Amino acid sequence: MSAGDSFAVQAGPASGAAKPSLVGMTRVELSAALAEAGVAERERRMRVSQIWHWLYERGATDWGQIANVSKAVKSALAERFTLARPEIAAEQISSDGTRKWLMRLPPVDAHDRGAEIECVYIPEPDRGTLCVSSQVGCTLTCSFCHTGTQRLVRNLTTAEIVAQLMVARDRIGDFPLSAAKRDPKCRAPEEGLRLVSNIVFMGMGEPLYNLGNVTDAIAVMADGDGLSLSRRRITVSTSGVVPEIGPLGHEAGAMLAISLHAVRDELRDKLVPLNRKYPISVLLDACRAYPGLSNARRITFEYVMLKGVNDSDADARELVRLLKGIPAKINLIPFNPWPGAPYECSEWSRIERFSGIVFDAGYASPVRTPRGRDILAACGQLKSETEKLSARARLMLDADPEASP
Ligand code: SAH
Ligand code: SF4
Repeated sequence: MSAGDSFAVQAGPASGAAKPSLVGMTRVELSAALAEAGVAERERRMRVSQIWHWLYERGATDWGQIANVSKAVKSALAERFTLARPEIAAEQISSDGTRKWLMRLPPVDAHDRGAEIECVYIPEPDRGTLCVSSQVGCTLTCSFCHTGTQRLVRNLTTAEIVAQLMVARDRIGDFPLSAAKRDPKCRAPEEGLRLVSNIVFMGMGEPLYNLGNVTDAIAVMADGDGLSLSRRRITVSTSGVVPEIGPLGHEAGAMLAISLHAVRDELRDKLVPLNRKYPISVLLDACRAYPGLSNARRITFEYVMLKGVNDSDADARELVRLLKGIPAKINLIPFNPWPGAPYECSEWSRIERFSGIVFDAGYASPVRTPRGRDILAACGQLKSETEKLSARARLMLDADPEASP
């Protein structure tokens, strides 16, 4: 990090240890929680709607903020459940307004020693994008991705996925009841849009290996009486788990992004080993069949720029040829290096030439501007420094909970 960056570490609210939290629950789970608290069946639907409103529309963090629910119901719930979010182990704020949070998840069962995930908020003039994780680690081993080298892997629960959005909105003051003030760097884009207007599943993990929980989390995020995000502003990125692509479209109605990264099977086999199972032609067939695909709902093809590996003019021309007939956007991603990575990022002039060829073929090909570089916050690179960061963050927390150098 350079000297001019701001860096703040703050202790989050206590996670409430043993008691589970209602935060992140689906309507079905909330109804079950109410049943557990002794709420009669005939009352449950109404109570779910009420609590849902306070949780997801208003952002309540305290039972006292919940106004129209009887004291008896609230105290029965409070005996068994909390309104806690995952603890924020560290928060970094980049000079460009990008924020990265390290969230500590309470153990899900007796064998779980707790896990940490990262989540990044990227404010832009016309949108605010939150990059979320779907798993702790990843079972796949793409050779340019640091997540694939992590040992610990488990699926995130639905609640843990939703909680990333809750924590982000708490911290940037995006709920009516948020304690935090709205950050002027995250100014609301258009009238009516939230500070977090878009979600990308481009953090840790392969979302299509956790499709059930990802689908349920999207349903909570898109619920019009609560978090109210448009499904068209929720994008799920996959390395190419072909059998789950159709179900993602049918069940979650989300936008699709494909981590393509190579135009020949021989190279893609090395970069994205899942390609051996689902080669490029099979993957692109699944894309052509993606439900709801149209010029207004294009698939994003991500292409990481690796020096001397996949960045030639011939590669660019082949990319354009391959995608012919598929409503597509092409997203060129400068490779984000990590210690020991076997690749380098392409030279800027090479990226420009590559993007020029793609542009001449009729594609807007934005090169994903590296955001929050100073805090290593680029999507797909969320965790490269997590180990170091968390060790450092812990040290700082131990030293001084208010630390803000
Ligand atoms: N597992 C999913 C989603 C998470 S990765 C997937 O692979 O699509 C999100 C994006 O970041 C993917 O396109 C991934 O290929 C890319 N990525 C991973 N490591 C990267 C790195 N070091 N530099 C740039 N992009 C990277
Ligand atoms: Fe997993 Fe995606 Fe990284 Fe590949 S690029 S290892 S699928 S997180």
